[in-house]
Amino acid sequence: MRTLRDLVLPGSTIALRCDLNVPLNAEGHITDDLRIVAALSTINALREAGSRIVILAHLGRPKGVIVPELSLAPVAERLSQLLKTPVGFSSDPANDHAVIVGLKDGDVVLLENTRFDPRETSKDPQQRLELARTWAAWADAYVSDGFGVVHREQASVTDLPTLVPNAAGLLVERECDVFSALLEGADRPYTVILGGSKVGDKLGVIESLLPKVDNLLIGGGMSYTFLLAMGLEIGDSISQPDLVKSVQGFLTQAGETGVNVMLPVDFVVADRFAPDAHTQIVDRDGIPADQMGLDIGPKTRERYSAVIAQSATIVWNGPMGVFEMEAFSGGTLAVAQAMAAAPGYTVIGGGDSAAAVRILDVDHLKFDHISTGGGASLEFLEGKKLPGLTVLEGSK
Ligand code: ADP
Ligand code: MG
Repeated sequence: MRTLRDLVLPGSTIALRCDLNVPLNAEGHITDDLRIVAALSTINALREAGSRIVILAHLGRPKGVIVPELSLAPVAERLSQLLKTPVGFSSDPANDHAVIVGLKDGDVVLLENTRFDPRETSKDPQQRLELARTWAAWADAYVSDGFGVVHREQASVTDLPTLVPNAAGLLVERECDVFSALLEGADRPYTVILGGSKVGDKLGVIESLLPKVDNLLIGGGMSYTFLLAMGLEIGDSISQPDLVKSVQGFLTQAGETGVNVMLPVDFVVADRFAPDAHTQIVDRDGIPADQMGLDIGPKTRERYSAVIAQSATIVWNGPMGVFEMEAFSGGTLAVAQAMAAAPGYTVIGGGDSAAAVRILDVDHLKFDHISTGGGASLEFLEGKKLPGLTVLEGSK
């Protein structure tokens, strides 16, 4: 993989793909700027080298139309504050060219949400290439630094780099180093903690991790499909009944390989999905028919924390409960604190898990690596080829 060191940077106009897909609240304010902060090192390195930097990024899923609420304008403002230098913003692709030819060495401009153009995410490679050519018209080189999107086949991720010289940015380089090392052989005992809402999203990663890990700890909304697979009652809890068979197969396989798969033994259940719901703690074989499980219970937290404390490598993806509501944030907090205190090497992957660490006020410096890519980091750990990285190995 080429790096910034392989490009001619002074005076060059660089198309820099970043992942600036940050969460916004109802008023349009950025609630967590982890991804913007993570983009700074490459932007600063390019500025110091005297490049003219044109940032390509997306926000949310506008599906190929202009959605004013998903404008990157607030991101340009925050980026400007963090870089301590004005960052230009081009709100209309028809003006991009004029803005870009006016740049001086060290200048930074952010273009509007790439996904406002339907060609960005088009399944038709010709469409994507057509959009990529509009960028190649002004770009001397392409730098890939949006780790959160390297698992996507999109014009600004996989097509533009086929048209101009390309290289990985510092963030992508660092993320690849961390996940390649884990894929090649983590120190044992190796523990992976998986949570989040749906088991379907993570079934692939569970299967491919099985031969590689010592402990697999399951939490969050995906737990309940496992309980169904064990023949337990889950009341109104979230589940994917169509996946029960796959989960059963997986549990059998786990039994044969001797991997320690741990499921929650107790839960915090509630009568409604609301912050002020009436809650109680129940064992896993005692979930009442009219209640839903929204967090792992105290016995589970204790068991999981003990395993985390004794592991040499710990990777966590997906919250243990509905951490956005305080009443159901205890399990996620317990895992985050156990990891923060653990002597082992700790990695967090997943947008929601990383946000949880911040929202719940756990010191992020206590983790060895907080990845900016949820889906990308999981696919990396599965051993899948990520198109946005493969293209960087290509001939350009
Ligand atoms: P990540 O982005 O870390 O990969 P996901 O996107 O898969 O995680 O899932 C995160 C979401 O899962 C959170 O918004 C959280 O509220 C939700 N969640 C966790 N546990 C439950 C549960 N028991 N019931 C419903 N939703 C849950
Ligand atoms: Mg998520």
